[in-house]
Amino acid sequence: YLTLDGIDKLFGSFTALKNIRLDIRKNEFICLLGPSGCGKSTLLRIIAGLEKPTKGRLLRDGQDITSFSPAGRNIGMVFQSYALFPNLTAFQNVAYGLQGKGFSRKEIEEKVKEGLSLVDLENVHAKYPAQLSGGQQQRIALARAIVLSPDFLLLDEPLSALDAKVREKLREDICELQERLGITTIMVTHDQEEALTMADRIVVMKNAEIVQTGTPQEIYEQPNTPFVADFIGAIN
Ligand code: ATP
Ligand code: MG
Repeated sequence: YLTLDGIDKLFGSFTALKNIRLDIRKNEFICLLGPSGCGKSTLLRIIAGLEKPTKGRLLRDGQDITSFSPAGRNIGMVFQSYALFPNLTAFQNVAYGLQGKGFSRKEIEEKVKEGLSLVDLENVHAKYPAQLSGGQQQRIALARAIVLSPDFLLLDEPLSALDAKVREKLREDICELQERLGITTIMVTHDQEEALTMADRIVVMKNAEIVQTGTPQEIYEQPNTPFVADFIGAIN
């Protein structure tokens, strides 16, 4: 469905990604896991089309999309740094991406309402980001991504700034939404437990490379290196 075919990314002489090979299946929930600086966000940005790979290709259903613009990829993103527009209400934030796409005003209104209800936030539609909690802001960002009916949802540590309780709830919500809407999701985290509980498959990265790909059970029970064992917190 989505194939990362030998992707390298260099920043000057620094190798941020090295020979990344991965097949992502439709509706799969992938967690990218690894220590700080290993290249997780860079990989997500390449999938989103925000960075170009130095080498290698991205294929969607066999079609080479390496040179497609972000807009041409039908991808929804929630990045930690991808803040809401402070001068727009929650409603306007969610509506933002729908404008200029040929939807009528009424259609936009319906889609936004549906998006807000998916994240359980119909009641805050008139509020500005500063009047919302961190968790609510993340939900709005999620709704903003989802109303575009993306083929892919890319989440870059969407939960890391939140306290444990809100995080737990949002975790469940993301999983439920992903299943219900059938969106192929790639989520970056450096929280092992998050990856183990949420992912269909975990991709463990270290120093610009993938060290292991497998189901949570495989990664946990059969780590292929001491690094993976250590990182995932498995006892063996
Ligand atoms: P974290 O968990 O801290 O977010 P990460 O795995 O997401 O880390 P990346 O942001 O992908 O890491 O960065 C990987 C490496 O590439 C880092 O060493 C970073 O300094 C470097 N890097 C990322 N973007 C650039 C850039 N635009 N120019 C130069 N170096 C970069
Ligand atoms: Mg990162």
